Amino acid sequence: MRIKDGSHHIASLRDGREVWLRGALVGDVTTHAAYRGAVHTSAALYDFQAAAANLERMTFEIPGSGHRVNRAWQLPRSYGELVERRRAIEAWAAVHYGFMGRSPDHVASTLAGMVMGIDVFRAHDPKRAAALVDYFDYARSHDLFLTYVIINPQADRSKTAHEQADEFLTLGVVDEDAAGITVRGAKMLATSGIMANEVFVACIQPLQKGDERYAVAFCVPMNARGLKILSRKSYEEAATSRFDNPLASRFDENDALLYFADVKVPWDRVFINQNIELSQKQWHATPAHVLQNYQAQIRLTAKMRFLLGVARKIAEVNGTLAFPGVRETLGQLAAEAGMVEGLVYGMEAKGAVAGDFYVPDHHLLYSAQALTQQLYGKVIAGLRDLAGGGMIMLPSGVEDFANPLLRDLINKTQKSPAATSEERVKLFKLAWDAVGSEFASRHTQYEMFYAGATFVTKGHSFRTYDWAGATQMVERLMAEYDLDEELVRLGKVGPRS
Ligand SMILES: Cc1cc2nc3c(=O)[nH]c(=O)nc-3n(C[C@H](O)[C@H](O)[C@H](O)COP(=O)(O)OP(=O)(O)OC[C@H]3O[C@@H](n4cnc5c(N)ncnc54)[C@H](O)[C@@H]3O)c2cc1C
Repeated sequence: MRIKDGSHHIASLRDGREVWLRGALVGDVTTHAAYRGAVHTSAALYDFQAAAANLERMTFEIPGSGHRVNRAWQLPRSYGELVERRRAIEAWAAVHYGFMGRSPDHVASTLAGMVMGIDVFRAHDPKRAAALVDYFDYARSHDLFLTYVIINPQADRSKTAHEQADEFLTLGVVDEDAAGITVRGAKMLATSGIMANEVFVACIQPLQKGDERYAVAFCVPMNARGLKILSRKSYEEAATSRFDNPLASRFDENDALLYFADVKVPWDRVFINQNIELSQKQWHATPAHVLQNYQAQIRLTAKMRFLLGVARKIAEVNGTLAFPGVRETLGQLAAEAGMVEGLVYGMEAKGAVAGDFYVPDHHLLYSAQALTQQLYGKVIAGLRDLAGGGMIMLPSGVEDFANPLLRDLINKTQKSPAATSEERVKLFKLAWDAVGSEFASRHTQYEMFYAGATFVTKGHSFRTYDWAGATQMVERLMAEYDLDEELVRLGKVGPRS
């Protein structure tokens, strides 16, 4: 098989998928004004991996096949292999400057982690475990782009899935027969769903007795019969000029609510069938959750580096770089970027052998998650602080440059000690798209929530910290003195006989 490249990916998306936008069916997502920029960025990722110069860094040979696929499918057996795999993730993240959260290496990491922990599935149901392994081989050999929907739609969060007014608000099993299961209902929130090949559907939220029908895990193609992809508003569609919206025009990966109108899933694609215990264990008793979020933290290092570059350039262009307060702000941002990077290296170095595999350290991963979801908004606030009104004091659109009168005024009014008027406008348009546009605002929401609300990520941090090691230190210190000895030492009582 040929290594997957961009043209291959684009062709694979012309599959009749049912994407809905502003009241109408979209048709071909690869050419539609709402999606084509993002679709072509996803294709650029595959072109990048197929380029001869990047082949070794980006891909590995599936053992015994002679066929190379992205390293995200590689099951790391050592620290060295984990680092090799990270370098591929890093290189892809640099292509999209960290702005595509659901690049194909995210869910590939999820499935890799599940296969690394396949014994957990086997212990519950060997047939479903075999289906997962076979599906993994299929997805890996085709280097598929998968997204996932693992969250139940918001409605009444004080009630569990089966207690909602509509028992099929949340996706659940309606029926099963010799061919497979039939599922009905909604899941949120398929980021990149419009340009993925397939979707992994599962439930990461805790389920309770009575919720059995919602405890499923399976994969279907995005053109599965009955699968409705309900796109959110496209920011790309309004970003008609790359000069005005350099990020939204290319990296608006989209998010979509998925509705499954009685979708049939054959048994060889069903990995969990109505099993609440396994539904939780698939994430936390296997390396799946750690590996997918480790990918996310690597991606974030690229985005942080990019945002710091924007911050520094704002200071240069505004002539504020030498001000002590500005250096302090930049220093703080640099320290925060360093922390994100350091946590990635730390979770690798402190990783552990799990069976045949090497897995990043759980607690450092959850530390990173809990801290970075709080950090992102602060970093954005730091950039806003540095920029002042410069991101607003801008020509209304690129067309202004085409009008000689306005161009002259732009040249008179857009001034900088370090840049031409055109360069200044170009930078501040980019800065606004990174921190203030609707695209940017969605990114803040994304970084705050993609891995769960803060009470969830802090819960993982609580669950995985070495409390025994911490409390034993305290106990050792307290064992070094006691009340009776102290009273004797202070001469308040005599020594005991
Ligand atoms: C841009 C974006 C992209 C996303 N992409 C994907 C994707 O590709 N795939 C996918 O599966 N999911 C995706 N998600 C969904 C994401 O995983 C969820 O948003 C996240 O898990 C939080 O769930 P929720 O949105 O239902 O918030 P909720 O769980 O409803 O929480 C919202 C807020 O309500 C409060 N709250 C709710 N429950 C409790 C509680 N028990 N205790 C205390 N406070 C509580 C907290 O203030 C919390 O912050 C995406 C989300 C966003 C914003």
